Amino acid sequence: MKAEIIAIGSELLTPFRQDTNSLYLSDHLERLGIRVIRKTIVGDDKDDLKAAFAEALARAELVIGIGGLGPTEDDRTRDAVAELLKRKLVRHDEVVKMMEERFRARGKKMPEVNLRQALVPEGADWLPNANGTAPGLWLATPEGKIVLLLPGPPPELKPMFEEYALARLRAHAPKHVFATKVLKVTGLAESEVEQRIAPIYRPYTNPETTLLASPGQIEIHLRGTGGDTGDALRRVEELAAKIEDALGDAVFSRGLETLEQVVGLYLMMRGATLAVAESCTGGLLGERLTSVPGSSKYFLGGVVCYSDRLKQKMLGVPETVLKRKGAVSAETVEALAKNIRRRTGAVLGVSITGIAGPEGGTPDKPVGTVYVALADAHRVKTEKHRFLGDRERIRWQATQAALDLVRRKLMK
Ligand code: ATP
Ligand code: MG
Repeated sequence: MKAEIIAIGSELLTPFRQDTNSLYLSDHLERLGIRVIRKTIVGDDKDDLKAAFAEALARAELVIGIGGLGPTEDDRTRDAVAELLKRKLVRHDEVVKMMEERFRARGKKMPEVNLRQALVPEGADWLPNANGTAPGLWLATPEGKIVLLLPGPPPELKPMFEEYALARLRAHAPKHVFATKVLKVTGLAESEVEQRIAPIYRPYTNPETTLLASPGQIEIHLRGTGGDTGDALRRVEELAAKIEDALGDAVFSRGLETLEQVVGLYLMMRGATLAVAESCTGGLLGERLTSVPGSSKYFLGGVVCYSDRLKQKMLGVPETVLKRKGAVSAETVEALAKNIRRRTGAVLGVSITGIAGPEGGTPDKPVGTVYVALADAHRVKTEKHRFLGDRERIRWQATQAALDLVRRKLMK
């Protein structure tokens, strides 16, 4: 079963409003096994709306329209769909009553304009709106296609969809079952991941494999279908195992955990504690670590040592190192990791120093040069990275590299 979503409203064509409802709907549809093949955004123009619905109905079995069901002149969805499907609009007294009740409950009289919202295309079902006045509409065409119209405001759309549309859609959805799995990878570029795993997943059409790249992280999404849950799951697990084999310990999560959650789990399992010394990330590493509930069990805290003076005074980086090698150097990051560990009494000390840009780069230390280090009681492991992107991306990737250093250490 294929679906299209039409988001309606001229404001969605401006830079000020985003269509978020379709994200919510596609999530639900995907779980029902209904494939969204196209999304359209249309302004409040009746002819444009009719054309959009006509085109969508030519391609898909289910067309969901969002918005434009309100009481004002610029809400034209109801009219456009009724005209297109050649249905008369009939006023439903039940809807009128419900709307009047809603106004009365607030001590108000229903304005005349709201009566438009009680107009229902002939043969259509209306869906109650618990959080607004505009009812939703469900129409079946003679060709067996479905048009579902939902109100635009998310607090109205979501409960209505879940209470009144979901069960009806489920009855129309394909009978097979889906299983999904996400593998998360760090420390490898998207092209490297693709090169290693493409020969493995390409031969499979079920499960389907999608790669999603973000700074410092690649997600591999597997989606399989089968006659029953066990069947779908087996397919997904079989391919996931092969992909994991090819990527080895670059895979840090086989579920939905973030890297900071995985690191937290390892620290807890080992009964280890961690402290951080951050320069160019300005506390982002500490922020990520403490975003995990329960992190006080393993995260002691840290120092944002942004200036050379603080690196020297608080974390004992020798003045000579700062002078000769600079704040962004293997020697500095090593001293930071060692000393934050020693001064806090943590089991592990991790540090970051680098050039996040956009200024401050030099030919031998260009923007994006970042050192990370991890110290335990015996040694310090240091890594030099060269990250690409803007300041935000570089800082994020720096924390990703630092967290991964900790993860790899604790995995062993
Ligand atoms: P109303 O009765 O409030 O007029 P409506 O069904 O006519 O409801 P619209 O007028 O199209 O809906 O939209 C009302 C508000 O809902 C918009 O200002 C916007 O904030 C929000 N909205 C509409 N469509 C979307 C969308 N696709 N994604 C997110 N928000 C939306
Ligand atoms: Mg409106």
